[in-house]
This record gives sequence, C-alpha cells and structure tokens, in this order.
Amino acid sequence: MLADPSSLPTDRAVLSQPPKAGLSCKMVLQAVGKVLRKSKAKPNGKKPATEEKKMYLEPEYARSRITDVGFKELVVLPREIDLNEWLASNTTTFFHHVNLQYSTISEFCTGEACQTMAVCNTQYYWYDERGKKVKCTAPQYVDFVMSSVQKLVTDEDVFPTKYGREFPSSFEALVKKICKYLFHVLAHIYWSHFKETLALELHGHLNTLYAHFILFAREFNLLDPKETAVMDDLTEVLCSGGGRGGGGGAGASGGGAGAQNHGKER
Ligand SMILES: [Zn+2]
Repeated sequence: MLADPSSLPTDRAVLSQPPKAGLSCKMVLQAVGKVLRKSKAKPNGKKPATEEKKMYLEPEYARSRITDVGFKELVVLPREIDLNEWLASNTTTFFHHVNLQYSTISEFCTGEACQTMAVCNTQYYWYDERGKKVKCTAPQYVDFVMSSVQKLVTDEDVFPTKYGREFPSSFEALVKKICKYLFHVLAHIYWSHFKETLALELHGHLNTLYAHFILFAREFNLLDPKETAVMDDLTEVLCSGGGRGGGGGAGASGGGAGAQNHGKER
C-alpha cells in the first residue's frame, strides 16, 4: 500500500524506518503503557473521557516540531508557477507523507481496535464508485483512501506530468476530495493513535505535517470548515502563528516567547 518512496523528501530517512527495525512491538506497547500511566488514564481498559483523551492538545506534545520553518509563507503560490502545478505537486507530496505517517502506526490500526472510522462524534463512511455507502473499519477506510488517491495522482488525465498535457476542468474538485480524505486519515491518527505515535517519538513529524497541510489547504480553500471543525482545537494550537512553532497563546506557558515554541524532539 505504501507509495513509491523515491519521490519523498529528505525527512523520509527518519520516518521510513519501520517501527520493527529498532523497536519491537513489545517495546512500543511498553512505551505506550508508560505514556498511559503518565497521562493518568484508567488502567482498567475503559476508554478515557473525551477531554482526557485529547493528549495531543497538551502543550508538551503540541509544541513538538521537526522544523520551525514558517509554513504560512511556504504554502503561498510562488510567482511564475502555475496554480494547478502547485496544487498537484503539493497534493501528491501530502499524500505520500500522510501515507508514510499512517504506516508507522498501521500495525495498531486493526479491524478490532478501530472498528469504525470515527473521530470524536463524527463517523466517516466510504462511498463506492456507484455512490453506495460502505460500512467499513478504520483500516479498510484508510486502504480505500490510499488506493483511490494513488489511482488519481498517477492518472495522466488527472495529474498530467507530460509537457503540453492540460489539467482537467474537474481538477480542483478532485484535489479538494483528496484533501478531505487525507484530513480524515490525519484526524484518525490523532484521535486513535496518538499514544503510539508518541511512543514512537513521531509526534513532531505528525504535528509538522498537520500544520503544513492545514495551512496549505486554508491558503487555497481546499477544505470545508465544517469538515475540519472536529479538529478545530488542535488546528488552533498548531496553526496559530502561521505554523511557525505554533502554540503561542494557546496553552504554552513559561519560558521566553521565542524559545518555548520551537521545541524539537530530535
Ligand atoms: Zn485506527
């Protein structure tokens, strides 16, 4: 299911190490247990209360980034570059990154652990090519997303790469659709797999990817605010301040204004 890694930027070296390479499943589970104890979650297997569950909002974790680059400036369409080319290249890259980020926790995203594709009180359903609603587990949903996006971004009629080929009139609508799906996957990772991401020390990557993706989508109105409302609290924390560190005024406390927002985990 993983996309061709050759097109991924430089940080793939860190992300592409499968968890198994350095950390056995047992080690990850132990680390998850440690994080759970730290968060004072109930050890009896009961699901923690909603507010308690939003560990990703804790300033200690939310301020973690792998870069302090200003995404707000980075997402702007550069002069002399065609809008569709810019949308195509960024969308393809986000797809690869979301796919990679999900792959780091995919062994925990099973049909049993994640019986539905749910984020908070929102339930996502897949619709097949004939528009028929398909009831599926979260890993099945993610598989549908990745397969259909992979098909689109490698379709010369939709994402043309050859000189002289035109983008279709439906291009923007398709990019919006892809962004919606990628948002669902990111939201699911935060909602259901943040503890594992934390145990793998990949939350800095996840936060960076999320902030970059949301600011890009916002710049070109690619996501419906109603769609993203479910993660508004996180977006506020991660994207205020233009993605540059973020978290300022949203819960981070103590320390100098500059230094506290640029915590790096590595
Ligand atoms: Zn899952």
